[in-house]
Amino acid sequence: MGDTPLRLHNLTMDERLRKELAAWLEFYRELGIEDFYRRSPASVRAETPAVAAVGACPPRRDRREAPAVSDRRETSAPPPSSAVARHVLPLPQPAPPARPLNLFEAPLPPRRERETLEQIREDLGDCHRCKLARGRRTVVFGEGNPHAELVFVGEGPGADEDEQGRPFVGRAGQLLNRMIQLIGMKREEVYICNVVKCRPPGNRTPEKDEIDTCSPFLFRQIEALKPRLVCCLGAPAVRTVLGIKEGITKIHGQFYDFGECKALATVHPAYVLRNAREEKILREDFEKIRAFLRTPR
Ligand code: URA
Repeated sequence: MGDTPLRLHNLTMDERLRKELAAWLEFYRELGIEDFYRRSPASVRAETPAVAAVGACPPRRDRREAPAVSDRRETSAPPPSSAVARHVLPLPQPAPPARPLNLFEAPLPPRRERETLEQIREDLGDCHRCKLARGRRTVVFGEGNPHAELVFVGEGPGADEDEQGRPFVGRAGQLLNRMIQLIGMKREEVYICNVVKCRPPGNRTPEKDEIDTCSPFLFRQIEALKPRLVCCLGAPAVRTVLGIKEGITKIHGQFYDFGECKALATVHPAYVLRNAREEKILREDFEKIRAFLRTPR
């Protein structure tokens, strides 16, 4: 007889709780909410020391519309602490404000295989993407060692290059060959290409729209080659590769970061052919190239 009243009291509580929960389930079902989640008792306990709050009221704004439960007792427990509201019967929440994903949350882009020079050449094809196609004879893609540590970027093919389909084969090319030999290398060891792949009429400087159209192929070539150093020959190459507009006589011989490699600007061999005294600049810059390539990776 000693513990009967207590047991009866518990039964009474359970019955009331059961009715109240049943009423709430019905209420949410009418709202179209059918899925309910329940945390493990341990986690609910950790967050809600007052486990008795399971029987507490839902948030005040809903109480108006809440179904009547005959023997519901008014409680002063603050609605937000209700375990029912917070853990068992989640209320529809407004969507969180949109925010940009950070680097760590953003899905990784699909891994791209590294392109080969052959693939880039194939894509370039018999190019007619810009107006230079009208006057050219040959598309001069570039040539050399596909594993070159050193890449030279000139301006665009001249008459000899257009004729032969190879870069730097005229007088400027002969001077370039001499400079390459000066630093103990062979032409076959390096890679040589240009900002534009077609000869500009009368050897004029390539125009912006021509460079904009053609330079993606140059960047893809460099990306495929992954050299240690890109040597820009003359202002159009410096502007295109490094985006530097300053005069070349000011910035030549300096090493710049360029993606995973370095880039250096020097005067164009054709300029040296017209200004013999400037050969000194070319020689000095090539000595810097030699020193750079001697340093361990
Ligand atoms: N000048 C260039 O810039 N590129 C060549 O290929 C030849 C001359």
